[in-house]
Amino acid sequence: MKSKILTATLSLTIGLSGFTYTTASAETLKDIQQKQAENHIEKSKKNKQVKEVQGEQDQLLKELDKLEASLKKTTGDIQTKKNEIAETKANIEQLQNEIAVLEKRIEERDALLKNRVRNMYENGGAVKYLDVLLGSQGFGDFLDRMISLNIIAEQDKTILEEHKRDKEDVEKKKQQVESQLASLNSKLSDLNSLNSQLKDNKAKKNKIMKSLRSEEQHLHDDIGKLVEKDALLADQEKAIKAEIARAKKEAAERARREAAEKAAAAKRAAQQKEAAERAAREKAKQPSRHSSPAPAPAPAPAPEPSYEAPSAARSFIFPSAGYVTSQLGSRWNKFHAGIDIAKAGYVPIHASASGTVARSYTSSTYGNVVFLSHYIDGQLYTTVYAHMRDRAVSTGQTVSQGQTLGHMGSTGHSTGQHLHFELHKGPWNVNKTNAVNPLPYIQ
Ligand SMILES: [Zn+2]
Repeated sequence: MKSKILTATLSLTIGLSGFTYTTASAETLKDIQQKQAENHIEKSKKNKQVKEVQGEQDQLLKELDKLEASLKKTTGDIQTKKNEIAETKANIEQLQNEIAVLEKRIEERDALLKNRVRNMYENGGAVKYLDVLLGSQGFGDFLDRMISLNIIAEQDKTILEEHKRDKEDVEKKKQQVESQLASLNSKLSDLNSLNSQLKDNKAKKNKIMKSLRSEEQHLHDDIGKLVEKDALLADQEKAIKAEIARAKKEAAERARREAAEKAAAAKRAAQQKEAAERAAREKAKQPSRHSSPAPAPAPAPAPEPSYEAPSAARSFIFPSAGYVTSQLGSRWNKFHAGIDIAKAGYVPIHASASGTVARSYTSSTYGNVVFLSHYIDGQLYTTVYAHMRDRAVSTGQTVSQGQTLGHMGSTGHSTGQHLHFELHKGPWNVNKTNAVNPLPYIQ
């Protein structure tokens, strides 16, 4: 009796499933294709932005090249000016030395002349002067002596004048060189300020370049994520199709088995009925010794109709041994889209239900992760097994409930060994909007 009810329920389930497969799967696949189209638009937008940013970078690089050339030139000019200044300074020093020598000579000559004149006209000198004159022998000698004294004084004077002229010349030259030095210094300061302007400009452009580079990096990251999303969507699409085919095949197999059981049961019932009738006939032939009537055969029990809706509740099993250390919900200001199960040691992880591997790969956040697509009673489910130590299944593979997918680990964004397990009613998406609490679904 119990088995007959079950048979009826199952036939009902298969009937319903056959109907819902097409509608639900069409919706799911349409949803995935919609997301793929959105991804495509987003990706071309990002690619366009990358081109723009790269164009800006090219322009900036050209400007930086020009700046670099200008900087090289001003740096060379500055060096030339510095050399010229050093030369001019050496020149000035030499002229200063010459001036000092001349000043010393002028001083000496001046002193000599003053001494001689003093000798000639001062009191003490006048005596000697007179002595010279008086010592002369006759007027001719006196005149000679007088003239020669004057000539000596004149000569001294002439030499002194020459020295003074020389000194004036050197001083004039020194002034010229000094004004040359001043002009060189002003040019050097102009060059230095130009150089620092160029350097400022270069620093600013380099800063812009840096921000453009980081913008480009972000865009590339975004595109990478979109490509990953695309791949995941494509894998999920393939897995869903394979999963539907698998579920249909299984349903057909079940239907065939049940039809055979039903036929066998009907055959058994017919045989029983025939045996009962034969027995009744045999009894009727024999003379009746007892008045009591023969007991009627028990009527075949009518199957009780079941209108219970097919439900995926308790279609899933715990994916691993261990304790649930974290529930689905808000955690550290973020939505925790699954449950965490922790256990020490080498802990195998099992497929929570039969399905198709949508993706088995290493993610930067999930670490070693397996995505399974399940088609149960016309509804698509996705389970996710993250942070695994290793993976034992590959993308596209069919798995049965309880099959080992890998082992518990702590890969990706994880702080200790545990399984992060997600259940999605529908396909997996980046915002995990289809995530549900898996616990009520587990047997
Ligand atoms: Zn978790």
